Amino acid sequence: MQPCKKIITRGTALAMWRAAELFRGGAEEWSDSVTRNVATDCGASGNARNRKKKRKGNGCFFTAKKGFCGIIEGNIISLEDEEKAMYLDYTYVIYVLPAILLSLIAQAMVKGRFAKFNQVASKRGITGAQAAAILMRANGINDVKIAHIRGNLTDNYNPSTKVLSLSDSTYASTSIAAIGVAAHETGHAIQHDVGYGPLAFRRVLVPVANIGSRFGPLLAILGIAFGASAQLEQWLPIFQMITNIGLLLFAASVLFYVVTLPVEFNASRRALKILKETGTLEADELGGVRKVLWAAAMTYVASALTAIGSLLRLLVLTGKRRR
Ligand SMILES: [Zn+2]
Repeated sequence: MQPCKKIITRGTALAMWRAAELFRGGAEEWSDSVTRNVATDCGASGNARNRKKKRKGNGCFFTAKKGFCGIIEGNIISLEDEEKAMYLDYTYVIYVLPAILLSLIAQAMVKGRFAKFNQVASKRGITGAQAAAILMRANGINDVKIAHIRGNLTDNYNPSTKVLSLSDSTYASTSIAAIGVAAHETGHAIQHDVGYGPLAFRRVLVPVANIGSRFGPLLAILGIAFGASAQLEQWLPIFQMITNIGLLLFAASVLFYVVTLPVEFNASRRALKILKETGTLEADELGGVRKVLWAAAMTYVASALTAIGSLLRLLVLTGKRRR
């Protein structure tokens, strides 16, 4: 029995499996070629367990340090179900799941708190849109347009167009929750007006982050999958570079989520300050606003933690290949 030309680890195996999964729908040709390369690489394997699997499937495609093994079915590389479940759970549960749970909790909190304080009418009886106009005028901002957009809590400030958009739930509502959200968006307009550094940095990161979150993990996995092929061994440095570029791009998108944190916390701080200074809300109304904005800030914290966790997971998956 001829030994495997390539010994790869669980991390690589998973990366390959994921790569094949990604391409299952669209580029079957690619998936086929990965399957062929892997099958050729590992024509046979040294241990009894894998030989058994080889007979069961079309071919054993790897052996790992701990005797991990998989079979090739058609053009999809699949890991044994129990092993796959264990492995997926291991990195996912440790690095990503806690942040996703936090994210769900934070989102539920925002909804709950907004619903609660949306029932509390502001004493001055002004709408979210009117509050935004008052607050901007008080800060000497005259060139920002206040618009009404559809949706619930889709409120945002766009620095490129200088449009502050308020959603169905805030534009015409006179609740303290609506005024709080409108004030938070005004906080972003003020950040833009005074040239607040993190906001400017965040804007620079937007295009890189868009590309990074979409293609970063894909590039990293592609680099790993092709790099694991013995036939393509001479190209290994290039595949490693592709993996590194993927990781860097994804890291840039993670940085975007991290920079978002000071921007959001600062906008809420500004909101509470100007609401108080202008007397738009009275002191006893600010507590409710603080609760709504705090919950909203937690969703950004959760997003940042999810991004960081995903990056760590990707580093673990690709790092195992390099060892
Ligand atoms: Zn914000």
